[in-house]
Amino acid sequence: MNIPAEKKWAVIGGGMLGLTLALRLRRQGKKVVVFEAARDIGGLASTWQLGPLTWDRHYHVILLSDLSFRAVLADIGLEEEMEWVTTRTGVYAGGKVYSISNALEFLKFPPLGVIDKARLAFTILYGSRITNWKQLEKISVEDWLVRCSGRRTFEKFWLPLLRSKLGENYRKTSAAFIWTTIQRLYAARRTGLKTELFGYVKGGYARILEQFRKKLHEEGVEVIAGCPLTRAEKHPGGINLVFADRPSEVFPKVVVTAAAPLAARLCTDLNADELSRLEGVLYQGILCASVLLDRPLGGFYVLNLLDGGLPFTGVIEMSTLVQPGHLGGYHLAYLPKYVPAEDPAFSLSDEEIEKQFKAGLFQIFPGLEEKNIQAFRVSRVRYVCPLSTLACSERVPPVETSVPGLYLVNSAHILNGTLNVNETVQLADKAAAQFEAL
Ligand SMILES: Cc1cc2nc3c(=O)[nH]c(=O)nc-3n(C[C@H](O)[C@H](O)[C@H](O)COP(=O)(O)OP(=O)(O)OC[C@H]3O[C@@H](n4cnc5c(N)ncnc54)[C@H](O)[C@@H]3O)c2cc1C
Repeated sequence: MNIPAEKKWAVIGGGMLGLTLALRLRRQGKKVVVFEAARDIGGLASTWQLGPLTWDRHYHVILLSDLSFRAVLADIGLEEEMEWVTTRTGVYAGGKVYSISNALEFLKFPPLGVIDKARLAFTILYGSRITNWKQLEKISVEDWLVRCSGRRTFEKFWLPLLRSKLGENYRKTSAAFIWTTIQRLYAARRTGLKTELFGYVKGGYARILEQFRKKLHEEGVEVIAGCPLTRAEKHPGGINLVFADRPSEVFPKVVVTAAAPLAARLCTDLNADELSRLEGVLYQGILCASVLLDRPLGGFYVLNLLDGGLPFTGVIEMSTLVQPGHLGGYHLAYLPKYVPAEDPAFSLSDEEIEKQFKAGLFQIFPGLEEKNIQAFRVSRVRYVCPLSTLACSERVPPVETSVPGLYLVNSAHILNGTLNVNETVQLADKAAAQFEAL
């Protein structure tokens, strides 16, 4: 196909956003090249080797209500291969593990009294009915939750959960954060489904990314991995892309999908307001351990930790979702620790993290022993998800920038949703619609 020179686009970042956007742009008749810094595509959803197993570097589940992402999976030929499962949720409180997987178990949950539970249930129901999320951006999450649930329920229930996701950054976070979380819980109902189910593709993201890459190749998108961009600068022909280890190349149009602070470092010709908006987005980072086991843990997909003093902020037992048969016969758990992007925990060695995290795991599951752990590996990412700070939607970085031909799309543009691949796909769809006429 003969594509005019001005229809040549570069997408920086081969995460789920960059890949989806590249496919959309290609289908608009553009010539598209994706440049990814890492050796493999996938970004936060990429895979790695954990002992003998190749699996996702971070825990990922697909919801039945993730309709946009499921449409992508159908497009790349994987929707029919999905497995759907009902999972259980637990809480670790006062040194004990409780199941709160249904209303009855929740009613019996001893650490909260009847009035606390009623207020908690009211908060969730009330939150699910709110449609004007912008008004929630003006109030702190603490004030809103105390108002709805009462101080005691806040301290006993919400605060440990907020701390587990946000650390001390919860103080800077608006009530929109909890609203988006509640909305995800109610997504099934909103999308007309009777029930919510958790799902996965057999083979995990390794399979998804392999198929995605194949699809992009078939449709003529070039994907170049292992190619970090160092600068995107103004040029009479568009944007000059300067790479660490390949010759510079000019593209008429460039979309940068890297996280906002990274985009600020790459796009130095942006004006002061644009740069300050990018740098002003506060990110949470993560230390996330993958633990390969020869036995199950507590049987909960998510175990929320209400007790303080543990080295990680939750236990995700992936093998309650993905059958061990699809994990080489092993059980797999993730131990996330969400921390601010600049947290000193990022400088802890792998050995130190392993020691601390294993001690925490043995505390929660007393029967578990060192010999049950077959492999342990730590992932560190500084920029995972932007915080919903007070009135942050009024300081969103621009998509179309003051530099002709340079566009920015990243997780900071997800304003009324939690960070998940479904939202990421919707963001790509929205950006593609905006770029259609270009
Ligand atoms: C612990 C964890 C658990 C999660 N759980 C779920 C879940 O259960 N379900 C779900 O749907 N979602 C989940 N997510 C969210 C999901 O991973 C994200 O929504 C999605 O991967 C975001 O994709 P992205 O492309 O926007 O960002 P990224 O994946 O961050 O992609 C950005 C890409 O840009 C590249 N890049 C950066 N700088 C440069 C440069 N200079 N040159 C070239 N390339 C560059 C990066 O290497 C990266 O590949 C989870 C995320 C984490 C971290």
